[in-house]
Amino acid sequence: MTVGEAVRAAATRLAATSDTARLDAELLMAHALGLARSEMLLKAMREPAPTSFSAMVDRRAAHEPVAHITGNTEFYGLSLAVTPATLIPRPDSETLVNAALEQAADAGRALDCGTGSGALLLAVLAHREGWDGVGVDASPAALAVASANAAALGLAPRSRWLERDWHAPGWADDLGRFDLILANPPYVEADAALDPQVRDWEPAGALFAGPQGLDDYCALIPQLGKLLVPGGVAIVEIGATQAEAVGAIAAGAGFAAELRCDLAGRPRVLLLR
Ligand code: GLN
Repeated sequence: MTVGEAVRAAATRLAATSDTARLDAELLMAHALGLARSEMLLKAMREPAPTSFSAMVDRRAAHEPVAHITGNTEFYGLSLAVTPATLIPRPDSETLVNAALEQAADAGRALDCGTGSGALLLAVLAHREGWDGVGVDASPAALAVASANAAALGLAPRSRWLERDWHAPGWADDLGRFDLILANPPYVEADAALDPQVRDWEPAGALFAGPQGLDDYCALIPQLGKLLVPGGVAIVEIGATQAEAVGAIAAGAGFAAELRCDLAGRPRVLLLR
């Protein structure tokens, strides 16, 4: 079978599992070939399919995310390593990076709360040479992924990755103040019906935040004021139905909130000042 035929057959099979079956099949095949997807599409479609491909398709058919099978994903134009210890960076979160880059002047300091793979902070640092930053996470396994990503992107000299839990008093006492704070905290309702590829494969600690998905906003947002320089801005990702509730938590903490929607037009980000 050629690469092209194997990709077509896999796309048909994966349609039962995935909304992005053709893309998934292409990404897995590119990984099996050790090529960029674009290079594979241009040059390799008539070559013989590698034997390693079918085991990867089997894993995807059992709902394992493509990013876990290939060990990486693309976010804001960056290639990032991901493991089951981190949330897989979502295209939706690129809305947060857009807002951050809009706010970020020539130089400054950023804090990424619940950094996971490091995606948000690394995307900002990659696009703003005068910036440095700190990524914090409660998971040491996630921090290992984030610091490896920073090193791979040449951003290690401008970043620090620290194990911190914002539920623990004093967690940020030694961090100083920041011009920009980024956060994609857990915000999924405890009993939400998630897709199996999320529910069974991604870390619960990065997803769930109590009955309404608001527990981490309640814990974190009131602590952000003392971490911002005067005039600084905190940018938090929210679930599509949470703008009002999170806006109220922010108002209670003395912030004015400005809403941004994602590319699908759903509420996705609040800027807090
Ligand atoms: N957007 C993610 C999802 O719906 C949730 C991310 C989060 O909780 N921070 O799977």
